[in-house]
Amino acid sequence: MPPLDRAALKAQLLREYAALLEERLPEGSLTLEEIETVVEELGREQDRRLEELLIQEQTPPPDNQVACPRCQVPAPYKRQVPLEVLTIHGPRRLLRRWHHCARCRQGFAPLDLHLHLEKPATRQVRAWQAKYGSLDAFATVPELLADLRGLVVSASTVERTTLEVGNALLAAEHAARAAPEERPACPPASFSPRRSAGFARGAPVSGDGRGLLSSAGGMAQRRQPGKAALPVGRVQSRGGVSDASEGRAG
Ligand SMILES: [Zn+2]
Repeated sequence: MPPLDRAALKAQLLREYAALLEERLPEGSLTLEEIETVVEELGREQDRRLEELLIQEQTPPPDNQVACPRCQVPAPYKRQVPLEVLTIHGPRRLLRRWHHCARCRQGFAPLDLHLHLEKPATRQVRAWQAKYGSLDAFATVPELLADLRGLVVSASTVERTTLEVGNALLAAEHAARAAPEERPACPPASFSPRRSAGFARGAPVSGDGRGLLSSAGGMAQRRQPGKAALPVGRVQSRGGVSDASEGRAG
């Protein structure tokens, strides 16, 4: 599908929103609950469409050969590999062109590279899982995310993510202590070794835990792509989502 330009994208979204309002907006008097419901439905629908169209816009033109991100040798196209990814607005199904590098014996999807996709969930989704997974039992987090954001995640995913984020924060802390001059611009101010040890085990964080956990999400958001050292979502190898998870949702 050819990429959309901004003017076409805006026109398309406005057209679709107008149609959506026409179709779903009830007439006559409304209770506050009815207003709340319809606004939520329309908002989610709009979020979903905008996100889909912006993702689509990033899709690189199909090529038979694409330079391998590791060794730069041309890697031939093999097949299409769908991947479900989760953003804070819901699940998105990406249809990615998969290339394989014979030299590195590894595959990659150019779309993953364009999107800086390293995990099948965005950093914010992962930060939420880690935050609430460390404050309460892992099993309670799926219901919380479903109620508040309509997101579907399993307790095992929450557990895995919480441990990964905790371990990445610990590694970043150790690295910062070893080389203070290379400390990230926005260090996790209240991240203490005692807390981080409990965090990495998935145990509840002492106190309110907010300093630590907002650090996890905040660092992930503030950090600039391509810049040094950091934890959340950076624990996997470069080159996008790996072969092991090429067709799997998290
Ligand atoms: Zn290669």
